[in-house]
Amino acid sequence: RLDYEVLPLPKPDTMFELLARFDKDTDPRKVNLAPGAYRDDNGLIWLLPSVKAATAAIISLPTYEHQYLGIQGHVPFLRQAARLILGDVAVETGHIASLQTSGGTGACHTGAVFLKKFHDVGGDVDVFISNPSWENHHAVFQHADFVTRSYRCYNAKTRSLDFAGMKADVDTARRGSIFVLHVCAHNPTGCDPTDEQWDELSRIFKRKGLYAFLDCAYQGFATGDLVRDKYAVEAFLREGVDMVVAQSFSKIAGLYGERLGALHIPCRSEFAKVRVVEQLKAINRREVSVAPRFGADIMYHVLSDEALKSQWISEVKIMSDRLSDMRRRLVAELQRLNTSCNWEHITKQRGMFSYTGLTAEQSRYMTDECHAYMPPSGRLSVTGLTTSNVEYVARCMDHVVR
Ligand code: PMP
Repeated sequence: RLDYEVLPLPKPDTMFELLARFDKDTDPRKVNLAPGAYRDDNGLIWLLPSVKAATAAIISLPTYEHQYLGIQGHVPFLRQAARLILGDVAVETGHIASLQTSGGTGACHTGAVFLKKFHDVGGDVDVFISNPSWENHHAVFQHADFVTRSYRCYNAKTRSLDFAGMKADVDTARRGSIFVLHVCAHNPTGCDPTDEQWDELSRIFKRKGLYAFLDCAYQGFATGDLVRDKYAVEAFLREGVDMVVAQSFSKIAGLYGERLGALHIPCRSEFAKVRVVEQLKAINRREVSVAPRFGADIMYHVLSDEALKSQWISEVKIMSDRLSDMRRRLVAELQRLNTSCNWEHITKQRGMFSYTGLTAEQSRYMTDECHAYMPPSGRLSVTGLTTSNVEYVARCMDHVVR
């Protein structure tokens, strides 16, 4: 018998661990400031009405068979998904190779595996990940046998984007290096480059022959506008930078458990595209055979029906607006309490997350003593705030910084 007792335990996932502790907590004041899924003002997961309508339409089909998809996934869905993140022109003329994946994580994974196999620049290629970043990024790329490194993106003093640091790290990376970039609503800092800064970065990428791995899990959450939020992708496309796009529908459609995502690779010709698609299919076949069907059917229904699509677009804005509103309310409460710190960065940052600037010790106090659960990084998941708990959370934050 194999002696599995000798296996080391992997490092636990801090977010899942924190949420497990939250679930066990019986204190009535408890607040979850770490959810990874969008909550409404009642603290409940929001089933988007457009998605609910599409789901009802699909399951009422008398012939719905839960059949396998083809290995590439739901091809008409992939085309709609590509339109959303790359734009109509790129889809019509850009020779986009797409693969349906198991959520955004699957898109990152398959993108990483593909690049490990085929991104050959004669020598080792490093993958640069923003510091800080979504906690799974390093693991996913290391799992695909890459050495991962960090690039600067956050200035802890100003609690804003460290653009100078980011630019310097991009500028000094070796030709062919891969940079994982958050398209919008950076997780965990909420600090995105401006359009002009993306333009500048895309020019450096082109000049230096760098590869852009554009990860997009929150399109529409930063500004409330799906088109404005994809500016980074537009900028890199315009410059003709080599890239992959990893797209997730988990948050933006509330389809978390359906694991809906896509990987898109713009190619230089139809000839190249066919090869890329076939290689992506070959990887998929070996790993999971084919992506799950149900979420793709639902989202295709939403995206191909003009009325449902515009309803969905307005629902994304509702989510984004609520997050901005909660940022404003939290800051207003903190100002009312005359907290010594300046909290304006909370309203300047965008999307689901805010890097509050609370230290590990202060975050631990929030969690352990105030029952307001947040990770040691001080990342606040803004969606955890509601009209009824924002005042309490502000009081706790005021307390820990005094
Ligand atoms: N990338 C980033 C930056 C994320 O924040 C997330 C989700 N937390 C993902 C990828 C993965 O998304 P999914 O849940 O669709 O796998």
